[in-house]
Amino acid sequence: MKVIPRDQHCISRKNISDGALKVMAQLRRNGHQAYLVGGAVRDLLLGGHPKDFDVATDATPEEVHAIFRSSRIIGRRFRIVHVRFGREVIEVTTFRGHHDSEPDTSRGKSQSHQSDQGLLLRDNVFGTLEEDAVRRDLTVNALYYDAANFAVYDHVHGMQDMLRRSVCIIGDPEVRFREDPVRMLRVARFAAKLEFTVEAETAAAIPRCAHLLREIPAARLFDEFLKLFFSGYAERTLQQLLEHDLLRYLFPDSDYEIRQDSVAMGLVQAAMRSTDQRISADKPVTPAFLLAALLWPVVDRLADQLRDRGDPPVAAMHSAAQQVVTSALQTLAIPRRFTMPMREIWEFQLRLQRGNSRKARELLQNRRFRAAYDFLLLREQAGEETGDVGAFWTDFQTLPENQNLPMIDTGGEEAGDGAGSRPRRRRPRKRRPATS
Ligand code: ATP
Ligand code: MG
Repeated sequence: MKVIPRDQHCISRKNISDGALKVMAQLRRNGHQAYLVGGAVRDLLLGGHPKDFDVATDATPEEVHAIFRSSRIIGRRFRIVHVRFGREVIEVTTFRGHHDSEPDTSRGKSQSHQSDQGLLLRDNVFGTLEEDAVRRDLTVNALYYDAANFAVYDHVHGMQDMLRRSVCIIGDPEVRFREDPVRMLRVARFAAKLEFTVEAETAAAIPRCAHLLREIPAARLFDEFLKLFFSGYAERTLQQLLEHDLLRYLFPDSDYEIRQDSVAMGLVQAAMRSTDQRISADKPVTPAFLLAALLWPVVDRLADQLRDRGDPPVAAMHSAAQQVVTSALQTLAIPRRFTMPMREIWEFQLRLQRGNSRKARELLQNRRFRAAYDFLLLREQAGEETGDVGAFWTDFQTLPENQNLPMIDTGGEEAGDGAGSRPRRRRPRKRRPATS
């Protein structure tokens, strides 16, 4: 174990939250070890501001819970303790041991469980700091800061990888990805977040293990999706996911579409960029909008096909939306509170592309107007052919109530009135190859 003394690193206690310092001090007073660990140490070393502070200790969850009145034990796969200090929550984890060794029964009920494929189903075997370090995912996530002597403990060359700006899995990449395939998504996420490169062996194991992501429950993948795209570096994350061919395990149909259609790729990238910009400006973001963009190329193509088959535009859009959402839910457990607005944004696109000034007034009042209008502009920016209706809506919003603009060139019948002429093709379509 390498000990990096105070004068050889840049972590200062004044950048650590009071809550975390108090939790560590209190654990030490009760005779336990306690270190700041994971993302907080990594981000402090890189000069950033950690968004939360995790503490690792040799105290069991029950012991931690007994020390802090405002705490509760959560989780099953990993049991951890949340200690609350006002609005701050400090996550306290007990050192994890080797799951493949005999459980240490002297430390209470502790156990791990592994599936036939090597997937870790439970991981509650407790251990030492050294054991805990090698159970973590990346070397740069396995540094420990001791607030008592200001030293950093490094058991896995995390400091070296920090200097090399390298995302490197701890141990044998294939074994570690088998234990938990989500680690591959984490590799992509941290490469994007830190702007590090993925270490060669770590990268090489991804194509061999990526298929294991199919075993991950849709709910956990949705949690991971939120971390990937709503942490302020979605555009770079998308790049990483495409580079390592992982996007298909989150959005199989979108992956196919955006790889073969540069307009679709442009739209998805623009949505990511706008999400990143909103986050950095502290503006609210909703997963519904980004999901609408990610799945739009699939919806749009399917709606086109249904129209080719003779379905009226509104009906085609409606059933395309239905099918695409159903299919996406197979992989990702997107809650209804996001799928509903997503579908409204899609279906609104037709209404924005046709109609007259009287209806336009009504649309302006619709609670989904803003999102749908932003979405329309994004599509236009990406190069989709919409007949430039975005400019109409931009002008229309600034008009006084009693004034109207000339009708929008509808290019077809009004929304809602059924069959009739087909609208113009919006962009040239490449067809899926007949054979694979
Ligand atoms: P962020 O800034 O995104 O919160 P983080 O490093 O704190 O980054 P978390 O997801 O909060 O990431 O996880 C905390 C720590 O737990 C990680 O730094 C890592 O050491 C460990 N960890 C998290 N997920 C895994 C995993 N799937 N396998 C092994 N270790 C993990
Ligand atoms: Mg964290």
